[in-house]
Amino acid sequence: MNIDFFASKKVLVMGIGTFGGGLDAAKFASSAGAKVTITDMVQVDQLAESIDQLKSYPDIEYHLGSHIPADFEDNDIIIVNPAVAPDNQFLKIAARHNKTITSQINIFFELSNASIIGITGANGKSTTTALTAHILKAASENNTQYENVWLSGNIGNKPLLAILDKMTGKDLVVLELSSFQLENLAKIKKAPKISVLTNLTPNHLDRHGTFKNYCAAKEGIFTFQNLNADSPAVSIFNADDRISCEWFEKYKSDTGRTCLKFSADDITDEIKEKFTLPGRVNLSNLAAAITVAKHFGITTQQIKNSLPEFKALPHRLEFVADIKGVKWYNDSIATTGQSTIAALQAFDEPKILIAGGYDKGISFDELAGEIAKQAKAVILIGQTAEKIAKAIKLQSNTKIQIADSLEDAVGLAGQNAVAGDIVLLSPACASYDMFKNFQQRGQEFVTLVNQISR
Ligand code: ADP
Repeated sequence: MNIDFFASKKVLVMGIGTFGGGLDAAKFASSAGAKVTITDMVQVDQLAESIDQLKSYPDIEYHLGSHIPADFEDNDIIIVNPAVAPDNQFLKIAARHNKTITSQINIFFELSNASIIGITGANGKSTTTALTAHILKAASENNTQYENVWLSGNIGNKPLLAILDKMTGKDLVVLELSSFQLENLAKIKKAPKISVLTNLTPNHLDRHGTFKNYCAAKEGIFTFQNLNADSPAVSIFNADDRISCEWFEKYKSDTGRTCLKFSADDITDEIKEKFTLPGRVNLSNLAAAITVAKHFGITTQQIKNSLPEFKALPHRLEFVADIKGVKWYNDSIATTGQSTIAALQAFDEPKILIAGGYDKGISFDELAGEIAKQAKAVILIGQTAEKIAKAIKLQSNTKIQIADSLEDAVGLAGQNAVAGDIVLLSPACASYDMFKNFQQRGQEFVTLVNQISR
């Protein structure tokens, strides 16, 4: 595939969404000379923000509110949003008509000549991706191994195809890759030059069905690396994670592949001193980023120089306010039990946890065990409230309250908290049952907390 492939073609963007990937794909295809149609199950009013950004592309057509079978028969290329499941009935129509089915990330892998560093895992992807890009960028000036560093993928609405023609073969691009994106990438048997797995615990089982399928999607990041003895692919694994260790053993003897391991224990005190993010999990994320940085010859001193400027990403153990000695933290991004366990372990103080949300079909037993050890009270919201409450009751007498809204939950947390406590929003669930996305949930929490402090 090259960019000319899109000229004069009819391209259907399936799922414009609100995360930026669909927009990036639509703009790219239109600029490359394609006739673009956008289809999305969601109605126009919910997509207003995305559509507004396409105002300067007047030839784009919109089929919103539902998908039409004819679109999947008439268009030449279908660019699929990662949220669309591979067994989608409309994709089957396109496949029957021999249409090219691709994705924003797949197009990028086909067309980019930069060195791609791909980061995946159940948890810690965004933080590790941002940290890796931060350290590489900070040390780029005197580095002979690369020129510019770009950051994109499944992280914060960053354009990707829009920056393709700005990159050169000497550049590095650090990409966060989700299991959905990797599943699509496996279809063209491609993977990054440097692949990092942060860790692997059950997640997204509503889409993947089983943990085994979820692992299989993630493993694509290593399986499809291009093995080349002259310029080996680099596969980086977490020494503290079971699946990561199994895969390290499996791949370490491959010719053309360098296998490296990282652990939170690798972080020395001199580096810890410069790092502001809380919790052991963030030391693990830092260790992954440092392993990549060292591969590019970056020194400990350069790493130490770069770290103080690195701030926690919003909604990730983000400090909100200290109200009469109670510290409030927004960890709205925590959509798995594992992330919430990590968040609970990040603090020594007594904790009141606000959790619950959309039901992705994961078990809360392990989380309930950690809540028994770590939380003095739990306030539950959303679809999974009763399920989490049941799991906690089986293991402890921790105080549980169920709230109808986030506002009520914040109110109850305020009533339970005394000076010296931490109130932590770390839901262990996605937000879709009550909010547009985790950002909206986190933002509402921040607003509610700031209202108390007035
Ligand atoms: P992701 O992009 O995989 O969702 P993030 O970096 O955005 O990960 O972090 C999301 C949340 O997951 C954080 O707020 C933190 O509570 C938790 N977390 C971060 N890193 C890890 C890790 N290495 N292991 C387990 N949980 C983590």
